Amino acid sequence: MFGRAPKKSDNTKYYAILGVSKDASQDDLKKAYRKAAIKNHPDKGGDPEKFKELAQAYEVLSDPEKREIYDQYGEDALKEGMGGGGGMHDPFDIFSSFFGGGSPFGGGGSSRGRRQRKGEDVVHSLKVSLEDLYKGTSKKLSLSRNVICSRCKGKGSKSGASMQCSGCQGTGMKVSIRHLGPSMIQQMQHPCNECKGTGESISDRDRCPQCKGEKVIQEKKVLEVHVEKGMQNGQKITFPGEADEAPDTVTGDIVFVLQQKEHPKFKRKGDDLFVEHTLALTEALCGFQFILTHLDGRQLLIKSNPGEVVKPDQFKAINDEGMPMYQRPFMKGKLYIHFTVEFPDSLSPEQVKGLQAVLPAKPSVALTDMELDECEETTLHDVNMEEEMRRKQHAHAQEAYDEDDEMPGGAQRVQCAQQ
Ligand SMILES: [Zn+2]
Ligand SMILES: [Zn+2]
Repeated sequence: MFGRAPKKSDNTKYYAILGVSKDASQDDLKKAYRKAAIKNHPDKGGDPEKFKELAQAYEVLSDPEKREIYDQYGEDALKEGMGGGGGMHDPFDIFSSFFGGGSPFGGGGSSRGRRQRKGEDVVHSLKVSLEDLYKGTSKKLSLSRNVICSRCKGKGSKSGASMQCSGCQGTGMKVSIRHLGPSMIQQMQHPCNECKGTGESISDRDRCPQCKGEKVIQEKKVLEVHVEKGMQNGQKITFPGEADEAPDTVTGDIVFVLQQKEHPKFKRKGDDLFVEHTLALTEALCGFQFILTHLDGRQLLIKSNPGEVVKPDQFKAINDEGMPMYQRPFMKGKLYIHFTVEFPDSLSPEQVKGLQAVLPAKPSVALTDMELDECEETTLHDVNMEEEMRRKQHAHAQEAYDEDDEMPGGAQRVQCAQQ
C-alpha cells in the first residue's frame, strides 16, 4: 500500500516488447504473446531475459486494471504498487497458465514450463522423557492432512478441465486502485476473491463430487516416530513429503522437534548425566553406599572406597553410565554425582571430646595468658548471607533515591562529597 503522486514513466515499452500497438485488443495481445513466448522459450533455446520480459509485458497488459495504471502512469507506478516489482509472477508460471498447464511443444510437457512450488513444512513438537531418549522408543501419532483428490486427480472437475478465472484473467491476483486526489493513486494487490487466488474457475456442473472442486480431501494418517537412543533436545525427525498435498506443489515435510521433559532426578548435559546426592557427615567421613535406579530401571550400587572422605560440593563420576551417543548407542557418556554433606548443627561436650580424640590435632597453637589479656573479646553471630546482602542493596538504593530527591542539582552533590 502506498500513496503519493507518481511520476510519469515509460508507458510504451511493454507494447514494444510484444510488438503490438497501444490500442491492441486482448486478442491481439494473446496472439502476440503466444507467438513470441514459444519462439523465445528457454527450453527451445530462447533468451531467458527476453522470455521474462515477454511474460512481464503480457502479465500487465492482459490485466485491464494493471494496463490502465501502466497507460496512465507508466512502469514505475506499477512496480511500486506491487512492492518494488516483487509482485511479478514467475515467467514460467505465466507461460504455463497461458497454455492451461499443457505444453505448446507437444509431448509430455516441458520440464521447466511447469515449475512446482514447494509446499509448507508442518512442524510439531514432540515431548519425550529422558527415559525415552536413553532407551529409545517409538510413538504413533495420528494426524489429518490434505491429500490430492483421487477421483479428479487434483483437477477439481469431472472433465479435468478448468477455465481461466474471469475475475483475475488467471493470475490469481487483483489490483485495486483508489484515487486519493487529483494526482494521487493508491494501489493494493490482493488475492482474487472469485477464485481464491488459484486463477481458475470450475463450473458448478463440472465440479468433482468427491472433493466438491477443492482438489484435495482430508485424510487421517498414523505416523510412527522412532525416537532413537541418544537423541538430543531440539533434534528434528523429518517425514519428507508427508505434509499437506496441493496441486502443482511439491509436498512439504512433517517435522517433529523433540522436546525433552525435565527429569526429577537426572539432569542431562550433552551425553553426560548429573545426579545430586546428600551424605550425612558420618557417611562423608566413614564411607557410604546407596542404590541409584538408572533411567532403564537398572539398580546401580554406588559406594565409597575404604578410608575415602567425601568433601562438600565434590563431584565423582562413573564412566559409561551417561547417555548413549546418538547413532553410536554402545558408547555412553559419564554419570556425574554431585555430593552435598550435611553437618550437625551442634555437638555435646562429650562428642567434642570424642571427636578430638580421633581426629587430627587442631592446627592452632595455644595462646599465652599475656596474649589473651591484650585482646578484645568478640561474639560470632549466625547470619544468612544472602538475606544480608539483599537488605544492604535495598538500603543503598533507598539512600540514592533520597539523595536524588533532596538535591536535584549535580553540583551540590559534588560539594558534599568533597566535605
Ligand atoms: Zn475431486
Ligand atoms: Zn480469479
